Amino acid sequence: MTTTTIDAGDVEDLDSFRQRARAWLAANMPPAPAGPPVGAGDVSDEEELDDVEHTRKLQRLLYDGGFAGICFPREYGGQGLTPAHQQVLNEEIVGYDYPARMQLPTFTPCAAVIHEFGNEEQRKAHIPAILKGEEIWMQFLSEPGGGSDVAGAQTTAVRDGDEWVLNGSKIWTTGAWWSDWGLCLARTNWDVPKHRGLTVFMLRIHQPGIEVHRIEMLNGSKEFCQEFMTDVRIPDGDRIGEVDAGWTVGVRWMFHERNLAGSPYVTRPAGQGPARSAADTGDTLLELVRDVGRLADPRARDLVGEAHALRLVQGKMVSRITRGIATGAFTDQAASIIRLMAGVVGNRTTTIGFELAGPHAVAWPDDAAALGELGLGYLTRQASSIGGGTTEMARNVISERVLGMPRERAADRDVAFRDVPRSASAR
Ligand SMILES: Cc1cc2nc3c(=O)[nH]c(=O)nc-3n(C[C@H](O)[C@H](O)[C@H](O)COP(=O)(O)OP(=O)(O)OC[C@H]3O[C@@H](n4cnc5c(N)ncnc54)[C@H](O)[C@@H]3O)c2cc1C
Repeated sequence: MTTTTIDAGDVEDLDSFRQRARAWLAANMPPAPAGPPVGAGDVSDEEELDDVEHTRKLQRLLYDGGFAGICFPREYGGQGLTPAHQQVLNEEIVGYDYPARMQLPTFTPCAAVIHEFGNEEQRKAHIPAILKGEEIWMQFLSEPGGGSDVAGAQTTAVRDGDEWVLNGSKIWTTGAWWSDWGLCLARTNWDVPKHRGLTVFMLRIHQPGIEVHRIEMLNGSKEFCQEFMTDVRIPDGDRIGEVDAGWTVGVRWMFHERNLAGSPYVTRPAGQGPARSAADTGDTLLELVRDVGRLADPRARDLVGEAHALRLVQGKMVSRITRGIATGAFTDQAASIIRLMAGVVGNRTTTIGFELAGPHAVAWPDDAAALGELGLGYLTRQASSIGGGTTEMARNVISERVLGMPRERAADRDVAFRDVPRSASAR
């Protein structure tokens, strides 16, 4: 595994970086768009593809301006700076548009995994392309047989000379239809216990043998996809890490995904979720309460206060855990606390926004898109407790790997994966 150390003597000081970022953003970056992000509801494919192109252009703008990949080394096109510089950029970019679609999962976890586990050739091929907005990456992790049991992957990769042949199906892949590359966990050995027979591959999503099907969600979005892989051929050069050692990669992969809010690889306005939800901040909720005429309503005040307190506590907790992980005071597994908090707070604040808007979030005029977003957000509020691993799984990790409580019983430990009983639907 590769990590980067930076010589403090070479690094621009934070104040000078802040001034430079502030001036450059003001001169170059467009303001944050009003209304909900494209893709949150029922949008046409053309609108969504336009927005993907817009994201690539914003990423290229950051790259050309010297503000992409703050914590990636310079030899891969990054800035070779520190997490503190990324935090400064995140503070300065508040109020501006930014390449939201590229942060999760392209930068974290995918680019982070390529950086840590890829070989030199793989890093040089992909990290600069990602930083320029030329490659958008997705995670091929979950399978129809179960997403929580990540190590139970049944997509199979069989070696054939200098190539691998993949067969199986991945599901719940956000945005696979408009993305370029996938990071895929596949089974390369069925004769060892499940964690010991996995390998990670990089694959082009749009290649012979991969069929991408769209899944429509309750809010009308068709971002989710299921991929069917039939004899997909991948060169051995696109394997990440050692054969059968994919779980070592997978554990860090999960860490980078859970650590989204504290990730040094992610550029997003400080204090906001990646989806720029209308229910994100206390200030936005206050505007909402004003708009729906409930300023004097004590119940509305309580709800705004609750959302504000949740966001404050979440922000402080993310900083504390991120600092703790960076200094070694906490194990990497503490990132599950950040993930759990994001799920609980995301779910609750979305519900609060809906309760505050009341009937306005059920039927809204065309010019009140933010109200519509609250209604659509409420329909899919559970997503924040499921995507990136469920909050139940985060609680398991916290209890077992942070607090040291006994591990849950597992019927498949030390059993060759081939011999693990499976339900008919999971075979
Ligand atoms: C918004 C969103 C985006 C997503 N994006 C992607 C993506 O890009 N790529 C991708 O691969 N996947 C993606 N997913 C899928 C996601 O990772 C899975 O849905 C998730 O891991 C849960 O898996 P599952 O749906 O198969 O549920 P299951 O694993 O079948 O779990 C069902 C329920 O049982 C609980 N459960 C299962 N095992 C245990 C246990 N041992 N202890 C306690 N409770 C348990 C779970 O917590 C859950 O409540 C996304 C999901 C969402 C909602």
